[in-house]
Amino acid sequence: MISRIDLRGSLEDPRDLLPRAEFDVEAALEKVRPICEDVRHRGVAALVELTERFDGVRLGSTRVPEAEISAALETLDPKVRAALEESIRRARLVHHEQRRTDHTTQVVPGGSVTERWVPVDRVGLYVPGGLAVYPSSVVMNVVPAQEAGVPGIAVTSPPQKDHGGRVHPTILAACALLGVREVYAVGGAQAIAMFAYGTEECAPVNLVTGPGNIYVAAAKRLLKGRIGIDAEAGPTEIAVLADDSAVPAEVAADLISQAEHDPMAASVLVTDSLALADAVEVELERQVAETKHRERVTEALTGRQSGTVLVDDLEQGLRVVNAYAAEHLEIQTRDAAAVAARVRNAGAIFVGRYAPVSLGDYAAGSNHVLPTGGCACHSSGLSVQSFLRGIHVIDYDRRALAEVAAHVVNLANAEDLPGHGDAVRARFAEGELDLHSD
Ligand code: NAD
Repeated sequence: MISRIDLRGSLEDPRDLLPRAEFDVEAALEKVRPICEDVRHRGVAALVELTERFDGVRLGSTRVPEAEISAALETLDPKVRAALEESIRRARLVHHEQRRTDHTTQVVPGGSVTERWVPVDRVGLYVPGGLAVYPSSVVMNVVPAQEAGVPGIAVTSPPQKDHGGRVHPTILAACALLGVREVYAVGGAQAIAMFAYGTEECAPVNLVTGPGNIYVAAAKRLLKGRIGIDAEAGPTEIAVLADDSAVPAEVAADLISQAEHDPMAASVLVTDSLALADAVEVELERQVAETKHRERVTEALTGRQSGTVLVDDLEQGLRVVNAYAAEHLEIQTRDAAAVAARVRNAGAIFVGRYAPVSLGDYAAGSNHVLPTGGCACHSSGLSVQSFLRGIHVIDYDRRALAEVAAHVVNLANAEDLPGHGDAVRARFAEGELDLHSD
């Protein structure tokens, strides 16, 4: 079912030996370029045609009527409503604490620098809806944007053929619960182009966030610069670092839970226990046979991106998971909190038996939009910070500028940019500045 990579006794850098999904965004660029150009030039007419081609749905309007959003909440299963409300409540608790306050540094008397945190004016949030629908992603995108104070929030998600060509009602209900009234029934690359260029029905946005498939990632790469993006999310990943204290049935269930997202999803077990590796493989066989989405789970688990990695001990295990930099990393070892404290690279770390990734997907309070493909070694998941810009406000009076003028002039001359020095001199009378200080 799942392949094995034996790194025991290996002194090589584990980075090149680890399984990884092939997610060739570059190749998809050629496919999405004409899609984006079409939306740029023909707006809604292009979106209608592309949606018919890729989603099998003929749209009247790309914008979902507000009455449809409210109606979706009225017909929502009360159990799902309660779950979404709890998910929102917990996400708000965590993201509220991430808000930034402006800070002023008095550099010298009369000279200060303030860092002012300003939310972007308008964001477009992509909520995937191909293989699965993700009302949880509405929560994970909207809550940090709202806590950041973004005034304009628009959501888009692919229309569902099985739901009368509409956006999935649970996604609409989640929008209603969060007070989002601007929703579009557009998916894929064309949705990112709609947000970037704007159309007759949708004003352009400054920033696009949210995960999606390869076409969504390629469109984000193509349009980055015109719009800000959070990340080019690839297929989801779970790594589990486990020793012989882990429970095989639980480890297997967690590996399956992420494989369920996508045939390209990666599930990786890193362990120093051969007995655990064997037992997890037996459990995988048993549980996959019973799981609802067994076809895509099997494809994901048997793909080259998934595997069991055998290591000598937890020290090597930590080197492996740090090199892999998983989107989700579970620590299923003795003294899991101490082991987790030594992890440097991961999108999110789940400590011990009672913090499975599924908890973080829905209701831990943490964000589930996380860096994939090894990007966790340089990037973080979605947060309030993703929606803010820190603007430096420089406020110097005449005396404070005069005091530092010589240094500015000398550095400007060192860079052969004397005009910079002249811009300072222009503010003072001839001979007023002491330009020879060191
Ligand atoms: P999606 O909404 O990203 O993509 C569906 C859209 O792709 C369709 O609307 C269609 O317009 C377009 N499309 C389909 N086939 C196409 C083609 N041949 N050419 C051009 N466009 C085409 O939904 P998805 O496909 O299910 O992908 C969702 C991804 O998001 C999965 O990989 C999942 O793992 C990931 N995900 C990640 C997170 C995270 O936090 N990292 C959370 C949820 C989902």
